Amino acid sequence: MESVHIKIHGIVQGVGFRPFVHRLVRLHGLAGTIRNTSSGVELELDGERAALEAFVADLPGQAPKLAVIEKIEAEYGGAPRGFADFSILKSHAEETRDTLISPDIGICDDCLRELLDPRDRRYRYPFINCTNCGPRFTIIRDVPYDRALTSMSRFPMCPDCDREYHDIENRRYHAQPDACPVCGPHVFFLDGEGREVPGDAIETARAWLKAGKILAIKGLGGMHLACMAQEDELVRELRRRKERDEKPFAIMCRDLAAVKALCRVTAEEEAVLCSFRKPIVLLRKRDERPSPLSENGCLGVMLPYTPLHVLLFGDDIDALVMTSANLSDTPIVYRNEEALERLRGIADGFLLHDRDIQTRCDDSLCWVLDGREYFARRSRGYVPFPVRVEGSRGGILACGAEQKASFCLSKGDYLFPSQHIGDLKNAETLSHYEQQIAHFERLFDQKPRLLVCDRHPDYLSTAYALERGAREGIPVLRVQHHHAHMAACMADNGLRGPCIGLIWDGTGYGDDGTVWGGECLVGDYAGYQRFGSLRPIPLIGGDRAVKEISRIAFALLRDAGCPAEGFQNGVLYDKMLRQGLNCPLSSGMGRLFDGVAAILGIRQTAGYEGQGAVLLEAAAEKDEGSYPVLLEGRPLRFDWRPMIRAIAEEKRSGVPVGVIAARFLNTLVQMAVETALAAARETGLRDVVLSGGSFQNQYMMRRLPAALRKAGLRPWQHRRVSCNDEGISLGQVMIGEAFLNQ
Ligand code: ZN
Ligand code: ZN
Ligand code: FE
Repeated sequence: MESVHIKIHGIVQGVGFRPFVHRLVRLHGLAGTIRNTSSGVELELDGERAALEAFVADLPGQAPKLAVIEKIEAEYGGAPRGFADFSILKSHAEETRDTLISPDIGICDDCLRELLDPRDRRYRYPFINCTNCGPRFTIIRDVPYDRALTSMSRFPMCPDCDREYHDIENRRYHAQPDACPVCGPHVFFLDGEGREVPGDAIETARAWLKAGKILAIKGLGGMHLACMAQEDELVRELRRRKERDEKPFAIMCRDLAAVKALCRVTAEEEAVLCSFRKPIVLLRKRDERPSPLSENGCLGVMLPYTPLHVLLFGDDIDALVMTSANLSDTPIVYRNEEALERLRGIADGFLLHDRDIQTRCDDSLCWVLDGREYFARRSRGYVPFPVRVEGSRGGILACGAEQKASFCLSKGDYLFPSQHIGDLKNAETLSHYEQQIAHFERLFDQKPRLLVCDRHPDYLSTAYALERGAREGIPVLRVQHHHAHMAACMADNGLRGPCIGLIWDGTGYGDDGTVWGGECLVGDYAGYQRFGSLRPIPLIGGDRAVKEISRIAFALLRDAGCPAEGFQNGVLYDKMLRQGLNCPLSSGMGRLFDGVAAILGIRQTAGYEGQGAVLLEAAAEKDEGSYPVLLEGRPLRFDWRPMIRAIAEEKRSGVPVGVIAARFLNTLVQMAVETALAAARETGLRDVVLSGGSFQNQYMMRRLPAALRKAGLRPWQHRRVSCNDEGISLGQVMIGEAFLNQ
């Protein structure tokens, strides 16, 4: 007999780790103690050497799904401590609410089996869950994570559930949301007028869906609007009712086979699609033509993630539109009464239940890059899991940007990026944002000592930070938008800097008062220099040009000295350009995409942010050609005029639009590499981080990192947060941290 002292570093608190260790200790016939520490957990165990080693070897492979083990240190050979059994020691940290909160987790295989087993007492029970699956973040009101502090508080456990809950051998040991048909929540179905329809609610919903009705369905983090996905006219009707003209709809498919009938799925995509986090994954459509579901070549698809969804599909519904129920850019509808009021006239019926959603959380959206999620929206299934940055001191609230708003609260090594909040442009979204900040501060027991926000004077997030800072006497640090993007990608990859950042997006407030967005920065968390940028593009009529992208096409053509014919207001535009009348300058990469999309006749107006870029990417064919890249001056400006002249000429001479689109994208790849190389030569740096919403472009992300590597540079892309403005708050925290350390 001897003893071993084991330190496990990583994210191992609040993820069911100690019950897991308890079972594993029993399995190996050991005894000892476990306690939480600031960096993970510590164990003291007595046993035979072989059994101790076997125990340690089993830890990584069998740990709970949400645990992230970074390092295990084991010191063998101590004198046995004489433990008789295994006990969990309370740590000081726990008394100060130092545990993590789990994201919501998709239904597990064990629960799925029981759900469909007629002999099981939870047969067809739409709220079946266990220690390994079910709602978490969306039902928690406060910590400690305990049933009484969740939306389950009004459902006292029956004796059967209670017995399972207290039995450490049971897979529902300490499963807070555990319930059964006797003691738990129930579903009900209401018609369009809010009258209850008698009978089996789920069967009624299935029948209505199959009859071509549009339903509101209560999910984990909010309501979905659902209808049969493969009935084009019905999908168009949903678009009309939701007033969502062109943005693609996400769908949910019954199973993988149903997904594969509609989309091409690689093995890597399959793994993400089927993971317990169940995000919406952007997949390539088998039929790439525009359809009422999606106007581009991709489709956002997810699998059923709650038992309710599983029952809804049964074995005869293949695919349902499952789009967030929200109206005119307000947050997702999540309460029953709210649904009945606001979705009246949109939904023909309502499949609801009596378990409250405490916290809104939209579905996450990603595509798969290098075998892992590349996020467009990091939300359900991921939030509120932290990003760990060793050596951080915490106490910073970063307020994010405006579009795709998010915030990030830091506590020690843990940085907690919020869920998707929405575009921070109206009072309702602002109030959701403020509520969530208060919620995070309570859950993680952290009041900020520094607020970080964007430099843009008009962002509501900036106003929030300034007002709160003044009210509560907290200092406020204002950070340049693209510097925050850069820092976000550095933190995402554990870089300390300095490095080169290629930061491409639509819009960000520049230090010179103009709009930036096609930037090459050099720097670290503490500061940056603008090494390169785009030749600024005049936005004819300011913000109007962002919607009417033909205005940008006009400005590009004119500036490049090309004929700009066939523009309705050409004379007026010309006059405005010449007099510099309401033509603010933008170096936003998104604007260059918009302008080229319009020159190519792909779009003349943008129905949603980034539509020009999305459709341009969709149009791009396989072609290796490119246009001239002219880089000049300091900051090193990409002068796009020779490129625009070449594009205009090829367009005139009848080169297919898809070929020109590909050559345009190839030109940008080449420009990026040349710019980064110039920065590398001047600074001796090799690391290049890629951030900003323009890197949501799959064509670009499947080529640019390889091209940078080929040029001898080290590219880094986002891995855990989005490259778009949603990811900005993570970078803001890091810049705030550097500021406090100065
Ligand atoms: Zn389960
Ligand atoms: Zn029960
Ligand atoms: Fe941005």
